[in-house]
Amino acid sequence: MHHYQPRHMLVTGGAGFIGANFIHHILETTNNIKIINLDKLTYASNIKNLASLKHTERYQFVHGDITDSYLVNEVLRKHNIDTIVHFAAESHVDNSIAQPAVFIQTNVIGTFALLEAAKNYWQHENHWDATRCRFHHISTDEVYGSLQLDDASFTEKTPYHPRSPYSASKAGSDHLVYAYYHTYGLPITLSNCSNNYGPFQHNEKFIPTIIKGCLTWQPIPVYGEGKNIRDWLYVKDHCKGIQAILEQGQVGERYNLGGNQEMENLSLVRLICHYFDKHKPQKMPYASLVQFVTDRKGHDFRYAINHEKIKKLLDWTPEETFLSGLEKTILATGNL
Ligand code: NAD
Repeated sequence: MHHYQPRHMLVTGGAGFIGANFIHHILETTNNIKIINLDKLTYASNIKNLASLKHTERYQFVHGDITDSYLVNEVLRKHNIDTIVHFAAESHVDNSIAQPAVFIQTNVIGTFALLEAAKNYWQHENHWDATRCRFHHISTDEVYGSLQLDDASFTEKTPYHPRSPYSASKAGSDHLVYAYYHTYGLPITLSNCSNNYGPFQHNEKFIPTIIKGCLTWQPIPVYGEGKNIRDWLYVKDHCKGIQAILEQGQVGERYNLGGNQEMENLSLVRLICHYFDKHKPQKMPYASLVQFVTDRKGHDFRYAINHEKIKKLLDWTPEETFLSGLEKTILATGNL
């Protein structure tokens, strides 16, 4: 099989959680890919996660907004970009409920601006050849909607049914990516991934909130009765999946990525609390920190991912179990 080989890669949102892990992963596992990281540095980013790359010749940071078409065009041209891996997004569902406008702006308009720039640049410079350019879009399992307990898990054929401003904005961007493939032949691939966890994740997200609660002996807020179910994937496994799709994926195809680790939120909290009971025991069990709080508006009950397609076609499967990934995540905070 012919493998696609990125050379000059634009990573958007590389100062965020998954993007930063991805940049480290690519630089560690390849020899010749150059990475330009375009990031607006919103509150969700942490450029320090890339500090160790400051003097690496294969890495360069550009501070800017993906909705700025002029800047994006300039970056593509200046760095002769052949591959775009698009992570940049507003990513926190709670924020999308309180302030949806910026989600539409970045996730929908921003993706549109990138697609336009890629189309215009590659059409002229690279003669539109799928062996020479690629646009990979990072999406989420949340676009498929919410499942009941006995529903089958999401496959790549599950119709989109987004229910929060966040998932609707991601769904909108996914549709645009497909439209550019079908209408103009832009060489795209797309991945829909379940909840990630691992080093560099922002404190506002669920697992960092639990770990922070345990480390500082503060209340751990749990929505409703803690019965909502999510699937969890260690971030490095996600990065390996994206790499596999870039190198061996079929243009125009989407791939689901998941960890095979479905859990009720409350079970997840208890598991992390037990880890701390064992490794840093206190007078009281850590689970006594759990505090049930008013449920999120429109809270999706369950997401579950079927990743048979990428397993079968690209030989990708998650390498970490939840416990091994959790341990790495906690140790990466350096506080235990
Ligand atoms: P994040 O919030 O940690 O990081 C997002 C990054 O994008 C930040 O560095 C931010 O500064 C940057 N950014 C935001 N708006 C921008 C703009 N207008 N221009 C340039 N940069 C901008 O997000 P994450 O958790 O790393 O998620 C990355 C991608 O993966 C997102 O597209 C998200 O939808 C998707 N995803 C995330 C998960 C998850 O569990 N975190 C799961 C599946 C899919």
